[in-house]
Amino acid sequence: MLHKWEGIVLKARAYGESNKIVTIMTREAGKVACMARGAKKPTSRLAGVTQPFMHGSFLVQRTSGMGTLQQGEHFNSMRHIQTDITATAYASYIVEIVDRLVEEGKPEQYAFEILIQALNAIEEGYDPEAITLFVDWKMLPYAGVQPILHACAGCGAVDGEFAFSFSQGGFICHRCFHMDQYIIRLSPTQLKLIRMFYTVPIDQVGKLELKSQTKQFIKKIVTTIYEEQTGIRLKSRSFIEQLERTPLLQREKKEEN
Ligand SMILES: [Zn+2]
Repeated sequence: MLHKWEGIVLKARAYGESNKIVTIMTREAGKVACMARGAKKPTSRLAGVTQPFMHGSFLVQRTSGMGTLQQGEHFNSMRHIQTDITATAYASYIVEIVDRLVEEGKPEQYAFEILIQALNAIEEGYDPEAITLFVDWKMLPYAGVQPILHACAGCGAVDGEFAFSFSQGGFICHRCFHMDQYIIRLSPTQLKLIRMFYTVPIDQVGKLELKSQTKQFIKKIVTTIYEEQTGIRLKSRSFIEQLERTPLLQREKKEEN
């Protein structure tokens, strides 16, 4: 059967002399892997459209097992993401987390929307670090984690001072601080931001200007959730960390603050 899917290329790996196996996150069918024959050759008409981050329409022939990519047409080649090293680093992290957390074989509309909104936002020049944080929080349910952020995880209260508790799986109020000796106290702003990262669609947030410190703090919480509670550590995380230590980026950050 021949399918036409809208999708984003998550990764492509070489297969044999001239082929690629391409993993595409599609809107209609979820995550699919398919064979792109000849796509490794620069002259192939499939060479361009099988690059990571490519957003396009893909014609896939599939009966059982892995499909074959017949044709592809790109809507957006994500030029900024392809050429700017910082944008590339964060976008790589985003496609990797989607690839790791989404299982093949069933439509995942929510994950597709997160992915496309995040890449478009980075492509349009939004702060890639903030966008990546959005993705981190929003993909938590796919890692089996549903943090309780609308009220206290201990007693359900919605007022009071709040802290983040890893053991209780979300926010707890001051009346429940005794439940966890390792709580992370939150200011009302931090509380609001975390809620927003988890619930507000990326495209509704506008151009968020967040201080480096704020991003680092919120990143620490979500990274700890991934690493301690799901055991997931992504390869591209180390690339971002490396990049954050490079002199050029540190200079940019100083100017930002
Ligand atoms: Zn409470």
